[in-house]
Amino acid sequence: MTLFEKIIAREIPADIVYEDDDALVFKDINPQAPTHLLIIPKKPIPRVGEAEEEDQPILGHLLLVAGKVADDLGICSTGSGFRLVVNHGADGGEAVPHLHVHLLAGRQMQWPPG
Ligand code: 5GP
Repeated sequence: MTLFEKIIAREIPADIVYEDDDALVFKDINPQAPTHLLIIPKKPIPRVGEAEEEDQPILGHLLLVAGKVADDLGICSTGSGFRLVVNHGADGGEAVPHLHVHLLAGRQMQWPPG
């Protein structure tokens, strides 16, 4: 069982900000921006490159949830904004083998990312 599956099962505490049947959103324990959330599927897909055709609805759902949470936080408006990040594998910086979308906001993001 991955760390994030344990958070879904409430075996490990997390600051959960949104939940539905297919997704969970909680605060990152080591935030890289004033707002740093992790949007995860409840289905244990290890990483985006290992998602299957059948996962298309959940992949889309994660982005819709990101937009909804961002809207709820008031960071969708003009003059504000946010960044979504998905890390895959060692070079991508992935540390937890359970698909997650990082939502970062509350500061000016830089490009290119590190
Ligand atoms: P990755 O590097 O795999 O893209 O991102 C994993 C993220 O999970 C990191 O940003 C890290 O801070 C976060 N994280 C690791 N362990 C925990 C934990 O126990 N609780 C929470 N809330 N976040 C965690």
